[in-house]
Amino acid sequence: MSRVYNFSAGPSMLPEKVLKTAAEEMLDYKGSGQSVMEMSHRSKTYQAIFDETEALLREVMNIPDNYKVLFLQGGASTQFAMIPLNLMNKNNKADFVVTGQWAKKAYKEAARYGTANVVASSEDQTFSYIPKLDKATFTPDADFFHICVNNTIYGTKWNTFPETGDVPLIGDISSCILSEPIDVTKFGMLYAGAQKNMAPAGVTIVIIREDLIGNAMDITPTMLNYSTHSENGSMFNTPPCYCIYVAKLVLEWIKNDIGGLEKMKELNEKKAKLLYDFLDSSEMFRGTVVAEDRSLMNVPFVTGNDELDAKFVKEATAAGFVNLKGHRSVGGMRASIYNAMPIEGVEKLVDFMKAFEAANK
Ligand SMILES: *Cc1c(COP(=O)(O)O)cnc(C)c1O
Repeated sequence: MSRVYNFSAGPSMLPEKVLKTAAEEMLDYKGSGQSVMEMSHRSKTYQAIFDETEALLREVMNIPDNYKVLFLQGGASTQFAMIPLNLMNKNNKADFVVTGQWAKKAYKEAARYGTANVVASSEDQTFSYIPKLDKATFTPDADFFHICVNNTIYGTKWNTFPETGDVPLIGDISSCILSEPIDVTKFGMLYAGAQKNMAPAGVTIVIIREDLIGNAMDITPTMLNYSTHSENGSMFNTPPCYCIYVAKLVLEWIKNDIGGLEKMKELNEKKAKLLYDFLDSSEMFRGTVVAEDRSLMNVPFVTGNDELDAKFVKEATAAGFVNLKGHRSVGGMRASIYNAMPIEGVEKLVDFMKAFEAANK
């Protein structure tokens, strides 16, 4: 068996230990005589897996008791509609900072249900930076203020969050959940599709302050109402059982093998620094994002020559570094170096880039 270094933006690598445990438990989960895939979600065995997953997430992310954790389906993209349907019902207004395609999609979807205001955007420079905000442009009576904390496609992240006062701040953390500690209390709600840094595709995590639940618009479909899922422990209908189980294994790995999110952050900073330092010193490759807003998770880079980019991607793939082609809207390359990417993967990629540069001067 040989495994590649997979730099995919999502779905993406999972820790090898997690995959091995899942494989070992595939046919017979802890003497139950069944796979977790086959179990009733109402069984005691499965409820124990579910409860443990939530408890671990609360512990690892330090989630306060006045926040609910929901395990939903439909991806982060469904949240773009659920957020306005559930929260835009007091003054029917919300603020958005447009820092990339996902942030823009969240804004556009909300604009279908109320007044969506763009506070700032970095589209003028292909989303290569996080815009500075002017509080005078905030809507004082907005129902919420939305940001995309890590911009997966463009490789930027927010390092300090907007001060929104009483207006609940909502953060899309799809591509940075569990990558470093985050102060949940600064947010009314955080959400993430799990397939970047937490589990296989299929489960969406919502962490929401209790007081924000229960004020959905009348038109809200039952399945899109946070109350429905909150009142039923995320089991109004069948949850994505197997994904939640893998999320549990990932959380155990972060807690027991890595040592928590402070340690995870150190590792992620070390990996990202290796790559950014090389990009800053290279004469062939350069990063596309302003230095102070660089993501720890997604690193876009270019040579400035489309043919050379294509040659690099082709040769890298042949050498076992896969999914390095950049997003179609940025071009070039993108290395997604989520939690599960081992440091050797980044070291070897940098060695490969150095050799490519020398051979193609
Ligand atoms: C991938 C991604 C999404 C979309 O997630 P889906 O689960 O595919 O709907 C939204 N926001 C961010 C930041 C992402 O990285």
